[in-house]
Amino acid sequence: MPYIGRFAPSPSGPLHAGSLVAALASYLDARAHGGTWLLRIEDIDAPRTVPGADRVIMRQLQTLGLRWDGEVLWQSQRDAAYRQAMDALAARGLVYGCACTRREIVENHAALEKARGARQALLDGERPYVGTCRNGLPPGRQARAWRLRVPPGEESFIDRWLGAQRQDVAHAVGDFVLRRADGLWAYQLAVVVDDAAQGVTDVVRGADLLSSTARQRVLARLLGARPPRVMHVPLILDPATGLKLSKQNHAPALDLARPVEQLGLAWRALGFGPIAADTPARFLAEAIPQWARRYKG
Ligand code: GLU
Repeated sequence: MPYIGRFAPSPSGPLHAGSLVAALASYLDARAHGGTWLLRIEDIDAPRTVPGADRVIMRQLQTLGLRWDGEVLWQSQRDAAYRQAMDALAARGLVYGCACTRREIVENHAALEKARGARQALLDGERPYVGTCRNGLPPGRQARAWRLRVPPGEESFIDRWLGAQRQDVAHAVGDFVLRRADGLWAYQLAVVVDDAAQGVTDVVRGADLLSSTARQRVLARLLGARPPRVMHVPLILDPATGLKLSKQNHAPALDLARPVEQLGLAWRALGFGPIAADTPARFLAEAIPQWARRYKG
């Protein structure tokens, strides 16, 4: 099967040292496999999208020598595709409206824990949804969000970086949101619909998204798509705070006066030794075969 990879940044700001690690790993993996590397701008979360950040990211990638193949896809233009997927799931009775507020979700789960007499380890600090509206809305309440009826069972897969993984989505997450209370499409739905539509075979991204993978596999299968292989690469932590470098934590933008240096830092963060090169193109020409020796096949 031909390899199709993608880099899918959210344009909430310019790329920083952390997002470059994910971009570089995904680029190298695609090139090492002789594959295609797509760029998808994940701008469905309008309140978090910074106007012009998509163009900045594209310029940054070009300066770093990370050239994508084909046309860029903007999620903000994919409304019809998300709606169609949602309708197809709804037609099979797999979607329901949910009236719960965030507070009710927390309270209902806490009440369930109490009744069970046992605490549950939380995934990403989030309370799972206990299915309050699964069999119909409480009288007098209106649907806010739309949720997927998650089938029972454990999801297991191999992560090419982290090894064997498993998650019981129904238990750890519960029926998750496809369309948010603010009317926006949820990240999980958009990413699965687009990966399927673009024929993505391989996802290489930051380890913060590992916990979403099982959900995305469940959803892909329900939509008749084959879940892509995955590789979750390490996050860069801010030495000062120990938190993940991210736009929310105000990570500085990359210094593009020194692209080779920035590539070198990301490369070292991926566990490789230094490469002496004077241009991004020469750097990448060295890095691709090294990556292939370690991660191809
Ligand atoms: N847009 C997501 C982010 O920037 C990445 C989605 C993905 O790679 O699946 O965090």
